Amino acid sequence: MIVAIDGPAGAGKSTVARRLAGRLGYRYLDTGAMYRALTWLALVRGLPLADGGPLGELARENPIDIDEAGRVWIDATDVTAAIRQARIDRVVPVVARHPQVRSVMRERQHELAELGDAVIEGRDIGTVVAPDAEVKIYLTADSTVRAQRRTADRPEIGADALATDLRLRDESDAARMRPAEDAELIDTTQLDVDGVVARVEELVRERQLAAS
Ligand code: C5P
Repeated sequence: MIVAIDGPAGAGKSTVARRLAGRLGYRYLDTGAMYRALTWLALVRGLPLADGGPLGELARENPIDIDEAGRVWIDATDVTAAIRQARIDRVVPVVARHPQVRSVMRERQHELAELGDAVIEGRDIGTVVAPDAEVKIYLTADSTVRAQRRTADRPEIGADALATDLRLRDESDAARMRPAEDAELIDTTQLDVDGVVARVEELVRERQLAAS
């Protein structure tokens, strides 16, 4: 079974998806980490981020690996920490919007989805990557709360800069960020992680029962 979890930054996707995957014994795929790793490599190589062709080639030549421990690798480098910096947050949508980049990423994400039993989080999982996913969740939250949640992850920048970064990223991602028609919308503004995980797990169990 595939569980697709989409939504904007700070809505709680990663925490919920990781915990849910652990509870279900499913694999967990963070597709945002793939776009982040590619962005990191493009910056290291000094590639112009406005040019989709070379970025697509870079993606094809440098498969991203997420190991058992959840560490993210590209070009034989562990980029787990490096990809969570504000300088990556700011430019990752510029890289992610190129169709040449998305088609390479999508191919890899499809391959993984085809192995079955996975929780996959991103922006376009329920709509494009895994439109047949048995469970589709779209997490949202009030933008102030999303910015507050991000503060703990980005100690290097202040709250105002963080709120601005988040707003700009939402705007850049807007074209690819919409709930699938059959997604369950969950507003996490006032919910704790356990509550969201419990709700999604309930949906998964219902689908498992229906399929058996
Ligand atoms: O989820 P996360 O915030 O780590 O994603 C980083 C960026 O990667 C997003 O802002 C978006 O630009 C891009 N992304 C995407 N499609 C996905 C996942 C992430 O375009 N499925």
